[in-house]
Amino acid sequence: GHGAAHADPQKPLVPGVKAIVAVASGKGGVGKSTTSANLALALAANGLRVGLLDADIYGPSMPRMMGISGRPNSPDGKRLEPMENYGIKVMSMGFLVAEDTPMIWRGPMVMSALQQMLRDVNWGTLDILVVDMPPGTGDAQLTMAQQVPLAGAVIVSTPQDIALLDARKGLNMFRRVDVPVLGIIENMSYFCCPNCGHRTDIFSHGGARKEADDLGMEFLGEIPLHLSIRETSDQGQPIVVSQPDSEHAQSYRRIATRL
Ligand code: ADP
Repeated sequence: GHGAAHADPQKPLVPGVKAIVAVASGKGGVGKSTTSANLALALAANGLRVGLLDADIYGPSMPRMMGISGRPNSPDGKRLEPMENYGIKVMSMGFLVAEDTPMIWRGPMVMSALQQMLRDVNWGTLDILVVDMPPGTGDAQLTMAQQVPLAGAVIVSTPQDIALLDARKGLNMFRRVDVPVLGIIENMSYFCCPNCGHRTDIFSHGGARKEADDLGMEFLGEIPLHLSIRETSDQGQPIVVSQPDSEHAQSYRRIATRL
């Protein structure tokens, strides 16, 4: 259960939003955005009112993954209406700038963009706002974690990164800003052959659970490397909505119940 964030004047709460949960990773390409989108959809499927904030300002992927194009409206000229698909409210820098615009921004501009996406968007009433963080555990991520009233954070990692201690870095980053780490999700945990269903432990197996135990982190679950997970998110129809009865959709929903 995600409680309300502490009342910290440095981190004003977002009115109407009960809990903000960050999805983070030690580096890019581990499936953080895929996990964020599917978790958001799984939380909604479990009956919650859900928003999804794409804070990966340099490489926004939610417009494509959530199958949303076009620009947000601003009826009062002050606040933006979030875009919406599959019952999820979504905001992303990808809606506000052309896809081929380079994002050569300095830190403070990134921070103000994030604050605006958090506070100048009409999120309405949400049980949970999932924030897809930019990859990495550097200063930018630390500042972000510091300035957003996070109820908790989830760390996505592949088995290899766990061995490389990226998960530990993520854990330390959130500890420094007093954000509880809700647990770790192992993505690309093993390979599922789409033809014969055979399972191969490409990056070995079981390490994540053990590493999570050693770090005193909850192990939230594992998601295999599977063609249909990649295809469905590339098509803007993540597996939780397009194949709700699949084993993988069920795994995301199980993980969502533990947040
Ligand atoms: P990140 O946000 O960490 O950079 P993405 O979510 O964009 O990573 O994923 C990187 C690529 O890997 C994407 O093409 C995505 O579709 C694919 N991918 C992510 N998770 C899985 C998975 N479990 N099975 C198959 N492909 C995946």
